[in-house]
Amino acid sequence: MSKSIRITAIKGMNDILPPQSARWEWLEAAVRRVMARHAYRDVRTPVMEHTQLFTRGLGEVTDVVEKEMYSFEDRADQHGHADHLSLRPENTAGVVRAVVEHNLLYDGGKRLYYMGPMFRRERPQRGRYRQFHQVGAEALGFSGPELDAEMILLAVQLWAELGIRHWRLELNCLGQPDERRAHRAALVAYFEAHHDQLDADARRRLHSNPLRILDTKNPAMQALVEGAPRLLDHLGEASRRHFEAVQAILGASGIAYSINPRLVRGLDYYNLTVFEFITDSLGAQGTICGGGRYDYLIEQIGGKGAPAVGWAMGIERVLELLQEEGVVVPEPLPDAYAVIPDTAALPVAMRCLQALRAAGVAVQMHAGGADGMGSMKSQFKKADASGARHALVFGADELAAGEVTVKALRDGSGSQQRRPLATPEAWAASLKSTA
Ligand code: ATP
Ligand code: MG
Repeated sequence: MSKSIRITAIKGMNDILPPQSARWEWLEAAVRRVMARHAYRDVRTPVMEHTQLFTRGLGEVTDVVEKEMYSFEDRADQHGHADHLSLRPENTAGVVRAVVEHNLLYDGGKRLYYMGPMFRRERPQRGRYRQFHQVGAEALGFSGPELDAEMILLAVQLWAELGIRHWRLELNCLGQPDERRAHRAALVAYFEAHHDQLDADARRRLHSNPLRILDTKNPAMQALVEGAPRLLDHLGEASRRHFEAVQAILGASGIAYSINPRLVRGLDYYNLTVFEFITDSLGAQGTICGGGRYDYLIEQIGGKGAPAVGWAMGIERVLELLQEEGVVVPEPLPDAYAVIPDTAALPVAMRCLQALRAAGVAVQMHAGGADGMGSMKSQFKKADASGARHALVFGADELAAGEVTVKALRDGSGSQQRRPLATPEAWAASLKSTA
């Protein structure tokens, strides 16, 4: 006999099981409501893309591209050509690819959103997984500051819809490429003057991508980074006006925010406004949503240049925050549990249950075993455990009278009534939960 091996899930990749999965569904439903209210439309792109999309789109010198991507070479075709593919580490690049490929901007800007799994080979810990899930919103083809503000307001409305109260908003303006070049020169000079204080990552990035050094998570470098030249001081008139317009809209909507000049975000494609929603309730993994403007990405990956702005939110972190904040997520309990004393009653009972379900009632049917349906006592125990508010009893007496007994299980009344088997539609509504 072969030795049995236990196959487990991949480290950092989680199964999402009941009852937890109900919280996911609840969150996803809230997302779809909020997106619909803002006239954002769903897009679904493949979880795998050509590696080049990410190296070009996200920037070669980013944590994600340098060390976190799941990339592989596909099997060679008959000509010996093999594709380099990657599991998507984020989905802005994928959405932009799809928008370009299908020429979605031909008749004007588009407001889009997505939800789904992303993959990054990071060290798994609380709030950081290798398969994790994001909700993302992207508005493409719009250049005005009102879209930056709309994006932020969209996220704020999502927090409200979910009942999340403990967040704060940080904003920064990354300016335009020429402004960044001037700042970059100042930054390199500053870091070169303090070369002995740079860690290995920072030394490597000093000339390839010095802005990224500001994004360091190394506590030993915080003081150095704190004193670095600020991009905000290198902004021209147009960038400043754009940033001020965003702030004016947020101010008028009563959205509190702080400006964090060190906020640069982990990916290369941003310009002008960048922002993060942060919570202090989740420890180190406190960023629940991040985004900004990316006016050059579309051109970068081969499309006709068009401005865009977006954000991505980490579902796992938001769910954890909901837990932390004690938000009550309703459990999906059946409205009724069908107690069926004898297998002979099954055909009639199941026809009735089917009609109730068609009328929108959630019904869990008792399942028997090889030797029948089991005792009434055990069936009622299961009915109680199911959380259903009613038991439907398909006993021999009831069936003989062409009826079913509806028994209240949870209101303490123990009340019961007979209902006609022939017309379930007529009394289905009385079983439905009103919540
Ligand atoms: P962090 O700084 O925490 O690594 P990030 O800047 O890499 O985050 P983004 O690429 O901006 O993250 O992704 C947007 C959001 O997705 C994050 O704010 C976070 O909520 C979530 N997220 C990112 N990486 C992970 C991960 N490995 N596991 C769970 N959630 C994640
Ligand atoms: Mg990261």
